[in-house]
Amino acid sequence: MTRRRLGLLAAGLVLAALGGGALRGGIAPPEHRETLYVFGTLVEIVIHGRPQAEAARATADVAHLLETLHRDWHAWRPGEITALNAAIAAGRPAQVDARTAAVLRRGRELSCAAGGLFEPAIGALVGLWGFHQDAPPEGGPPDPAAVAALVAARPRMTDLRIEPLPEGGARVTAASRAPQLDFGGFAKGAALALAAEALRADGVEDAVLNAGGDVTVLGRGGSGPGAGRPWRVAIRDPFAWGAVASVEMRPGESLYTSGNYERFFEAAGVRFAHIIDPRTGRPAAEIASSTVLDTDAARADAAATALSVAGPEAWAQVAADMGVEAAMLIDGRGRVFATPAMMARMTPAGEGWPGPVAVVPLPPAATPVCPAP
Ligand code: AMP
Ligand code: MG
Repeated sequence: MTRRRLGLLAAGLVLAALGGGALRGGIAPPEHRETLYVFGTLVEIVIHGRPQAEAARATADVAHLLETLHRDWHAWRPGEITALNAAIAAGRPAQVDARTAAVLRRGRELSCAAGGLFEPAIGALVGLWGFHQDAPPEGGPPDPAAVAALVAARPRMTDLRIEPLPEGGARVTAASRAPQLDFGGFAKGAALALAAEALRADGVEDAVLNAGGDVTVLGRGGSGPGAGRPWRVAIRDPFAWGAVASVEMRPGESLYTSGNYERFFEAAGVRFAHIIDPRTGRPAAEIASSTVLDTDAARADAAATALSVAGPEAWAQVAADMGVEAAMLIDGRGRVFATPAMMARMTPAGEGWPGPVAVVPLPPAATPVCPAP
């Protein structure tokens, strides 16, 4: 497949600001930009319409928050989640702080809505496939019997009980020893949602948080003086360097993409990527990338992961069940599937789509039966 390389901006950040950057009458526009390295990726924070000192302070607050969440929520470096996982594996209750309790509840709710295809409790499987390390895994796929044993144990978020404690935080107990938490499928979205909240609390109304192409826009993103036009975010081509399309962001929207090109290894010519189908315990194989546009960053991130697992037949039902309206998937052959709402928002990039495009209306949502928290 030959695809034109668009070469959008440096460092792989597929974000193009239409607004901002211009000098008016020699006065610098109130735009503040800073790039952090957190959550294993570069996070660019652009703040509009605030004096530099205030914007710098707000950025420092966000940096501190994201670094804390990265440490607390890490799936394999010692922290709050590894401690919780050790307690669950030993059949003991554990205590978590209020923020982690909230993200656990959100994860359980999203997992239930996704019919278990988004399942942050499958940490043991993700680890078994070798993705609990910074470097790409080596040594090929794991023993099928070990995979089957973990699948048979049915690790599920819905098996967690999260009871609020009077002194804050929560007590977590699990109905089995199988759940091992890995927030990788929605940590970025959940964290950027909290970062957006922190910015608002610091008086920032227009900002963009860009985590390696996964973007959350606060307010209009770039509507400060000197800007005034919306942000346009590119959706990466899963087969080549460049973009397949772009989306003009509206106030408060998030655009998240899951891709089989992000973390993977190859064995005997087969790609094994980091998104695992909880039903088989094996990497989801059919979807190259899936993108969700939503007003809720955590849901956008979780749904992008869930739709990759669901595949070309089931994704529309899962999107409907999760309450997502705008989604686009590209399968391994380059076929494109999009909801009408997503289709209406995308502008194809220069060379167009990698394959035939199917616009798929969303079916009615099923009402999932989820246990009470
Ligand atoms: P993302 O790039 O948002 O799709 O997240 C992928 C990451 O989520 C992986 O690296 C795992 O840490 C985790 N993960 C893998 N499979 C799943 C799944 N089915 N549900 C939830 N999280 C998953
Ligand atoms: Mg995700």
